[in-house]
Amino acid sequence: MADARIGIIGGSGLGQVLAEQVGGKQVRVETPFGNPSGPILLTRWAGSDIAFLSRHGPGHLLNPSNVPYRANIYALKSLGVTHIVASGATGSLREDIEPRHLVICDQVIDRTFRRESTFFDRGIVTHVEFAEPFCPRLRAVLRSAGEKIGARVHSAGTYVCMEGPQFSTVAESRMYQQWGGDLIGMTAMPEAKLAREAEMCYALVALPTDYDCWRPHEAGKDRETLLREIIGNLNAVTTNAIELLRAAMPALAGQIDAPCACREALAMAIWSDRSHIARADVDRLSLIVGRHFK
Ligand SMILES: [Zn+2]
Repeated sequence: MADARIGIIGGSGLGQVLAEQVGGKQVRVETPFGNPSGPILLTRWAGSDIAFLSRHGPGHLLNPSNVPYRANIYALKSLGVTHIVASGATGSLREDIEPRHLVICDQVIDRTFRRESTFFDRGIVTHVEFAEPFCPRLRAVLRSAGEKIGARVHSAGTYVCMEGPQFSTVAESRMYQQWGGDLIGMTAMPEAKLAREAEMCYALVALPTDYDCWRPHEAGKDRETLLREIIGNLNAVTTNAIELLRAAMPALAGQIDAPCACREALAMAIWSDRSHIARADVDRLSLIVGRHFK
């Protein structure tokens, strides 16, 4: 099997379901940033070689703060992945983004505060551009694929990433709405930042499962009914997301060699004086930054 150029990071729901659907070879990868969330599945799916990683690991044992984001991105990069499509369960902050719809996110507000969010934590200072946090080319591919499937797909949305693992208060949820947030989730960051630093194209499909807590529950529904509803929504929206990815895969594979600004993210981003950078610090991150020090 050729190197997988396309990586899929599956969040809650999609992680398990896709892993069960496809066979393939499980590989364990070690990185300078520790072990990734779990083994990475190399397989052929929807006509393409893909590398698939379940973000929360086997059995969903890693909470959003403890996901080894750096190891995950580094491991995918080391396997030859250049393009990542990630999924993540979210709450909806907007009436018209209903549970079971899909959203191809275009913006993010990062509220996380206890996660390692850069590969360049010592020795080399970089500042990558992040005005457009998700790859516009990948988003366009997903948008066109979205027109071919049955589910409603929103072509843009602002994802507010909170630390968690607790859900929001009502006051927070309303504040996020006032900020212009459309979705609330816990895992887009720092994943998208790290993919940019690693010069990989990255897009995120959000899977709304409920209306967060800003919207009062319908009267007469007890907690068990509500939980059953959310799980039902997660299963249904996961099926929709798999359909979207499957529909997107041929176009994605077709334009994988097209140039993209994401793939040159470090070209103008290294701020340290090169004459002061220690060779050991370049070597340590050679997979990511080595080509800029040739
Ligand atoms: Zn890109």
